Amino acid sequence: DVDATTVAIRKGPDELQVLVILYDVTFMRKVEQMQSDFVQNVSHELKTPVTAIAGFAETLLAGAKDDPEALDNFLHIIQSESQRLSQLIQDTLALSRVGESNDHIEKVTIAPLVQNALNSIQQPIADRKLHVNVELDADLALETNKSKLSQIVRNLVNNAVFYNKDGGTLSIVGVRTNGGIRLQVSDTGVGIADDEQQRIFERFYRVDKARSRNSGGTGLGLAIVSELVEALGGSIHLASQLGVGSTFTVALPNATPTK
Ligand code: ADP
Repeated sequence: DVDATTVAIRKGPDELQVLVILYDVTFMRKVEQMQSDFVQNVSHELKTPVTAIAGFAETLLAGAKDDPEALDNFLHIIQSESQRLSQLIQDTLALSRVGESNDHIEKVTIAPLVQNALNSIQQPIADRKLHVNVELDADLALETNKSKLSQIVRNLVNNAVFYNKDGGTLSIVGVRTNGGIRLQVSDTGVGIADDEQQRIFERFYRVDKARSRNSGGTGLGLAIVSELVEALGGSIHLASQLGVGSTFTVALPNATPTK
């Protein structure tokens, strides 16, 4: 796409010089298009829980509240749809913060960060009888932005729990590499088909909508992860086999450059 500005310069009574300045606005248009697609997607995703909450509240007010079973049932739906709304808002905010500068760079030790992520999802781990295997050197650390790295770990660990099989294994392994660290989060869960492996990092892409919804998913978790990894100067790689499990490998440099 090209925008143009024309400037006419009078050089003399019979001489006019015309200057045409061309701007390549392809990139800008693309960014604008992406932003408007994103707003549309978010609005669409927000509509579902809002419609459910409004609908069930209306039904209760219209008389369903007098039936104790319906009352309990509908209130639970309203509660879970509210949680879904709240998760969507949190994820949208997290995405909007990805581009913030990495000015808070500090020494971050991996082990406690992984422990926090596991603690926050302790109940589902217990409910699903998962085996947890953590292999990290106690002093494995790097200079980075702590809140961005915590979010990366949390999202990968949450997925490894929710897309696992009952009685399966969740494994977190961290090693030092030449220029930084490599962190692997593996599960023995449903796995991801080859043709879906690229797409799952897209915003709002979900392989199985119903399953994602049941796990309280928004379809934004991995988009947040991949954008944060990039913001920290790292890379992410996925190896997965349908029905066997998935391993997400994040490589990060020893020191994240400040932007
Ligand atoms: P969601 O909120 O739906 O979990 P994500 O962006 O975190 O959104 O993931 C996108 C999709 O990728 C999920 O809906 C799921 O289909 C798939 N996925 C993510 N992590 C895993 C995993 N560990 N095992 C299998 N499928 C996964």
